[in-house]
Amino acid sequence: MRSVRVRFAPSPTGELHIGGARTALFNYLFARAQKGTFILRIDDTDLERSRPEYTEGLLNSMRWLSLDWDEGPYFQSRRLEEYNREAARLLEEKKAYHCYCTPEELAAGREQARKAGKPYLYPGTCRNLSREKARAHLAAGRSAVIRLRTPDHGETVVRDLIRGEIRFNNSDLDDFIIIKSNGLPTYNFASVVDDTQMQITDVIRAEEHLSNTPRQQLCIEALGYEQPRYAHVPMILAPDRSKLSKRHGAISVEEFRSRGYLPEALINYIALLGWSPGEEEIVPLSKMVSLFSLDRVSKTAAIYDTTKLTWMNGYYLREAPLDRIATEALPFFEARGLLKAPLEKEEEDYFKKVIATVRDRVKTLVELAEASTYFYQEISSYDPKGVEKHFCKEGSADLLRRAAELLRNVEPFDLDTVETAYRDLSKELGVSTGRLIHSTRLAISGRTMGPGLFEIIILLGRDKTVSRLEKAALWIEEL
Ligand code: GLU
Repeated sequence: MRSVRVRFAPSPTGELHIGGARTALFNYLFARAQKGTFILRIDDTDLERSRPEYTEGLLNSMRWLSLDWDEGPYFQSRRLEEYNREAARLLEEKKAYHCYCTPEELAAGREQARKAGKPYLYPGTCRNLSREKARAHLAAGRSAVIRLRTPDHGETVVRDLIRGEIRFNNSDLDDFIIIKSNGLPTYNFASVVDDTQMQITDVIRAEEHLSNTPRQQLCIEALGYEQPRYAHVPMILAPDRSKLSKRHGAISVEEFRSRGYLPEALINYIALLGWSPGEEEIVPLSKMVSLFSLDRVSKTAAIYDTTKLTWMNGYYLREAPLDRIATEALPFFEARGLLKAPLEKEEEDYFKKVIATVRDRVKTLVELAEASTYFYQEISSYDPKGVEKHFCKEGSADLLRRAAELLRNVEPFDLDTVETAYRDLSKELGVSTGRLIHSTRLAISGRTMGPGLFEIIILLGRDKTVSRLEKAALWIEEL
């Protein structure tokens, strides 16, 4: 048995989308589970659409997701000689040939097929061209592509690890192009040359490539190499079962990152798009490795559902180690102007306490920063509904002043003592503890909801709490 070698081969023509990330993840998991090698290859032979900044973005997204590769990135654009060398060999062995048909001639054929309501197949015009005819074409200034000579009869059978056997009639496959007139290889040919030279054992990729597979198998056969195994992973559809696109919300890894999702949540979520680890839905990457196998990957399309992803993100936000969340959260606090890296020791300790207090109630890092603002900034407004409910009652300003007085003097200034003192004060004033708590919360956070009030008080500290209570009392009086 050869040891497992798999590859993820994105084209750098855009950002890494969740579909691509899932293909990368399944390859990564398969390699790790089989103690094999995970190779990263950049399919950048489409010179017009490929951009170095997209490659950079893809690598960053993969690193952020912890999908570390063992080999590469290899770039197809730097391997053009290999494709031409293999094509030359096929020409020599008469398994491929030059085709001089002009774009106009090909278009006419396509038009004819369209009128007849048949799929277009290249008719093999140049298959057995005489030397004289070829020379004449060249003399007339025609350029050539290279086509693979494919069998007219019989079947090509794809044995897919997920889908089983899929049969294709060779008569439905024409002599397709392997090298274009500009000398660049087509996707099918470059992919095959690379897969064989890189000794890929298992090609795990999106279902949309299934129709390319018989062509790739024919290329490999012509080249005389061993076929890899294939596994085509199911499509990812939008909730309405349409093709997933930008109108369904965020779909690129970078977008999720900037919206405050954690890589561990995204990885966990996309793993479940087509793979079922068993009962448990929360499966961290390290655990996935031990559970992963292709026979638990489904044939049917997966439905993309951001509600579940967001729920999962909330889970990881609550459960992940505090240090880890702090690292991921810092840029979001910086973006809101709450903090500026690098943090002093004291700032960092306070930052972690804030996160620990707030994180149970939020689902993304954006929400975490938003819900933490009053720990860093003065209150500039009070929630209007809260004002109506808690500040407009008779005696509200007095209530806050009494609370301020209490907190100015309470000793020690800790959670239990403050809580007991608060309860005593509400009894003394003859108001419900609820009323005292709600109006204090609004006064010191500007909001009606959030973490436990006494936790907020302790974290804000005596001075800030007292001054905000007094400020709110004044504000009420000026209403
Ligand atoms: N560059 C191709 C893509 O991004 C790779 C497909 C394959 O894995 O063969 O779709």
